[in-house]
Amino acid sequence: MTASAPRYMARFRCIAEACEDTCCAGLTVPISESRWSLLRQKVAGGPDEARVASLITPNPDGATGQQAGILGKRADGHCAFLDETKLCSLQSKYGEAVLPDGCSVFPRVLTRWGAQVEMAGSLACPETARLCLLADDALVREPVPEAQALRPQMARQVASGSDAWTAHAEVVREAMLRLLARRDVPFAARLYALGRMALDLGDFYFPGTAAFTDSQAESHADAEDAPTAAARLASILRTYDAPDTLHTLRDQLEALELPGGPWAGICAAVLRSREAHVGSQRYLSLVRGVRESYGGADTTPDDAWRLHVTRREALTSLHGERVHQYFLNHALNHVLRHPFTEASNLLNAVFLLVLRASVVRYVLLGHPAVVALLDTPGTPVATLDAAAVESFQLIAKHVEQAPQFLDFAQGLAGEGPETFARLLILVKGL
Ligand code: SF4
Repeated sequence: MTASAPRYMARFRCIAEACEDTCCAGLTVPISESRWSLLRQKVAGGPDEARVASLITPNPDGATGQQAGILGKRADGHCAFLDETKLCSLQSKYGEAVLPDGCSVFPRVLTRWGAQVEMAGSLACPETARLCLLADDALVREPVPEAQALRPQMARQVASGSDAWTAHAEVVREAMLRLLARRDVPFAARLYALGRMALDLGDFYFPGTAAFTDSQAESHADAEDAPTAAARLASILRTYDAPDTLHTLRDQLEALELPGGPWAGICAAVLRSREAHVGSQRYLSLVRGVRESYGGADTTPDDAWRLHVTRREALTSLHGERVHQYFLNHALNHVLRHPFTEASNLLNAVFLLVLRASVVRYVLLGHPAVVALLDTPGTPVATLDAAAVESFQLIAKHVEQAPQFLDFAQGLAGEGPETFARLLILVKGL
């Protein structure tokens, strides 16, 4: 049995003490009842028995099952079981089997599409972010031994095919990936096209849709050659494969005049909303640097936007291809890592992708090292790469998965046609 993974995940190896972060720093690490019990058995009667008893405590939320216990933290926010070489002392003494699922699997993200296990990566790990963003073949998918996808039993089953929403998910996802990878139009135009495609599919392809049921299909078939929902879906996806469609949408987007201040205001608000909840000094110092570079706490969104546009043009002329690669790989990875079937509809899934890309774009173009290199054109591209890895990784770790951010995104997206209107504001910033 094999799994599949983008090439960067087949290349991934934890760099442990050489890592600028650690997986557990600043995060709550739960342990399941079964792993906790196995660990207690392994340490019973030995020198670690008392340590395990005092450092792993019942979940204060009263949760049982997968989240029954919580691992203790040191004062610096790292896991209490981390040793001086930044390796897990439990794993080195008692083996991988005692690790909580999150520790064992991270930064791998496992999903099961039908019978196939897929492994993507979380960019919250700096090494994963480096491998994903900096190699142009990073997102080529290939088979890997299932053993490399540790604990495949933990994979989320995202497409069982038992309903129309998941049964057609794979073909829709492939169309999304093809669209994102098209290089004949700018990246923002591809995201715009993705939103339009989601809008076109949205009136009959959504969770719980009955448009694909046999009786619906039969009534459509009887009604003067009206296409079935499956045929409509295939036809819409084909339309978005056509170069003409994409070129027309690119022209539409370019002709659209929208103020940029709201885009800058949204990105700054996202960063601000996380500051009080994040203890990581790396994150806080980056966010402070970004805020200062856009003019400080009192700057207006319009002023921040004007700076952003100037920097975007300058960076594009210096390193346009490199920056495009970061955002393309981030978006492709996003589609693989976050199955759209978990969203309330396809348009909301696209909205979340565009919002995440916007926040990272705002951070990258406000990163002090990037601002400095715009004035020093001979700066090696490695400086830009390091700033990009830091920006994508810290936003992935401290913003993208945070419940407050996801709630904010849901509120911002709204519902129906307003979601698409708001998506346009975000796309214009990219
Ligand atoms: S964040 Fe990644 S590279 Fe760093 S210690 Fe964790 S798995 Fe290893």
